[in-house]
Amino acid sequence: MELLKKKIVEEGRVLPGDILKVDNFLNHQVDVRFMEAVGAEFARRFEGVEVNKILTIETSGIAVASIVSKYFGYCPVVFAKKMDSLNLDKEIYCSEAFSFTKNRNYRIMVSKRYLSADDKVLIIDDFLANGKAVLALKDVVEQSGAELEGVGIVIEKGFMPGGQELRKSGVQVESLAVVKAMDDEGNIEFE
Ligand code: 5GP
Repeated sequence: MELLKKKIVEEGRVLPGDILKVDNFLNHQVDVRFMEAVGAEFARRFEGVEVNKILTIETSGIAVASIVSKYFGYCPVVFAKKMDSLNLDKEIYCSEAFSFTKNRNYRIMVSKRYLSADDKVLIIDDFLANGKAVLALKDVVEQSGAELEGVGIVIEKGFMPGGQELRKSGVQVESLAVVKAMDDEGNIEFE
């Protein structure tokens, strides 16, 4: 998606540790008009795929997924929670992932009330790096008996193994920009 690549080059910053900071339009401040273009592009790429639920992970996935929902018939968006919360249902699907940005393991939880065998799920997230977040979401979908219809990612770091691993497992993964290489001087190359 050319507009996304342009925004990454003009507004993104490369931080030490292979982190791409795009928090002025995606991860902190959200450019809603631009996210609508992201939603329309996912709809184009997943045309003909039946989706009745979008699954994401808190926190950064929520804004993207909520806007993307508009392009999939305003289907409900379920976000996996990362922290134990007193008001979370007792009946939950649970999985574990390793956080690339925080360098530690974390648990994700989804209430059994919001995901079941009748669901056709599109997973949406802001970034794909090692793939651990998406694999944990995929695990939750499998536990629920729902169908995983695809994975939509705004920015994939193609030099990290997550995308390849997921595609190898047969999942349709659509990334709107795939970063091939980036360096501390801020040079960013796309696939
Ligand atoms: P993975 O689980 O694929 O290794 O990492 C994906 C998760 O880590 C995403 O949910 C995203 O929030 C975060 N993440 C990974 N790489 C980056 C990055 O370069 N920049 C930002 N802002 N988040 C990232």
